[in-house]
Amino acid sequence: MKIRPKILIVDDKKENLISLEKLLKHFDVDFIRALSGNEALSLTLKHEFALGIFDVQMPGMDGYETVEFIYEDPDINNFPIVFVSAIFKDEFHIIKGIQKGAVDFISKPIVPEILQGKVKVFLNLYLQKKELEKSNIELKKAREIAEKESYAKSIFLATMSHEIRTPMNGIIGVADMLTNTEMTKSQKELLEIIIVSGSNLMTIINDILDFSKIEAGQIKLENIDFSIHDIIKEIIKLLALKAKDQNTKLSSDIHPEIPDYIKGDPLRLKQTIINLVNNAIKFTKNGTVKIIAEVINIVGENFIIKFSIKDTGIGISKEGAKTIFKSYSQVSSSTSRKYGGTGLGLAISKNLSELMGGKIGVESEETIGSTFWFTTKLEKSTKIKKVEEKHETSEKATKQPQKKLSVLLAEDNLINQKVASANLKRLGHEMDLAENGSIAVEKFKNNKYDVILMDIQMPEMDGITATKKIREIEKTNNSPEIKIIAITANAQKEDRDLCMTAGMNGFLTKPFVADELINALSIK
Ligand code: ADP
Repeated sequence: MKIRPKILIVDDKKENLISLEKLLKHFDVDFIRALSGNEALSLTLKHEFALGIFDVQMPGMDGYETVEFIYEDPDINNFPIVFVSAIFKDEFHIIKGIQKGAVDFISKPIVPEILQGKVKVFLNLYLQKKELEKSNIELKKAREIAEKESYAKSIFLATMSHEIRTPMNGIIGVADMLTNTEMTKSQKELLEIIIVSGSNLMTIINDILDFSKIEAGQIKLENIDFSIHDIIKEIIKLLALKAKDQNTKLSSDIHPEIPDYIKGDPLRLKQTIINLVNNAIKFTKNGTVKIIAEVINIVGENFIIKFSIKDTGIGISKEGAKTIFKSYSQVSSSTSRKYGGTGLGLAISKNLSELMGGKIGVESEETIGSTFWFTTKLEKSTKIKKVEEKHETSEKATKQPQKKLSVLLAEDNLINQKVASANLKRLGHEMDLAENGSIAVEKFKNNKYDVILMDIQMPEMDGITATKKIREIEKTNNSPEIKIIAITANAQKEDRDLCMTAGMNGFLTKPFVADELINALSIK
């Protein structure tokens, strides 16, 4: 739509208004007339003006006073005002006009070219301002749409991965249970394929979820005490078998200056190292993969620590190295056909290392090998090393025979009910079932259980609400708190926090295997 600017002309003499309009008649504008300062004021509340041309000397409120009112009133859209008068030979009047807020002056008798030239400049400025306003609104709208879409995309991906995780619980849970049954050798091999494929699929689902969360800026880092030594030990234990399959030696070199404890996000750090070590093993047959950790700088209360993952594998060409940190990119499509992968791993590692205050990079030579490295900023910790206490207790917890428990399972999904109940039975526990949160609350009121395993997403009443209700009932009855363990497909920290603030005691992520269930049940 084309904008037709409005000009407010103010003079107590009608003939002056008419002659002004005549002088400006070739402009494509609407003139709005006011015969007094008061009338001008009330018109400024009704219209948006591109320009005002005001007489100074008027009976009642003069031009200066009118302008003062206009500029003081926050409800009036500011617009430039030009004064027309015979008094501007005296500089005093010009200065006064400027102080009141006028932007220009035209002396009477009016020279048409001067008036027209000035009006043209102000109209152009006005039209440019309107254009800018319009494109600003459009840009804002476009940004809002893009933000909404990106948010919707990340929510969609999170929901999808949740939906996929739930049936995966059935697949991995049942496969895990089958390993404890009598089987022929070939059945065992087939089962092994299901388990390995299931766990590969879980990695991909987790990658997609992580990537979408990082993209939507939804990842929050933890800042807790942990040990780099422990993390690297765990990673080597986790990936030793995979390395052995490749006939590759996996080792670590933790430089002596690495402190026993440090503060940061152990899960995200571990995830980044695992990503790189996994790749290194994948692309290295009959060789070596080494994880190196070293302090490269100390800045105030922070250590800058560099992790390098050095392999003697296939290496990467100079061209390939340029793009590998971008999302969905792989060195070549033949690599991905041969080795598999989604091309998300390095993009996630790059984002995570940047979130942790560092950088990522690679030095590589084809057929010789690659060194992927990243740096992180980690806070000094005040925690002091105790000898291996953590491992012992957790191992004890799993090995100790458990007493028979009465468990209430709140779960709506039929397959998950079966997996959990079979597992519980095998462990010698008794189980009662609630198909949704409100049944769980009712059953809790009327029975005595040791533990409630609470699914989060259920029809009618979800697990969070049910937990809050149970905690309320306990408060009013002054009874001790029952142990409630969340079962959820949402593995993120925010979901864990949500469960804990609702009053739950533990957390079991789908898909889970028997050992994880045992650990969760033994939570104090
Ligand atoms: P993918 O899931 O495909 O492995 P990544 O982002 O982890 O995704 O890796 C992207 C690509 O970078 C890989 O497909 C591979 O071509 C290359 N790459 C990554 N790590 C190595 C390595 N250690 N040696 C050789 N090539 C590698």
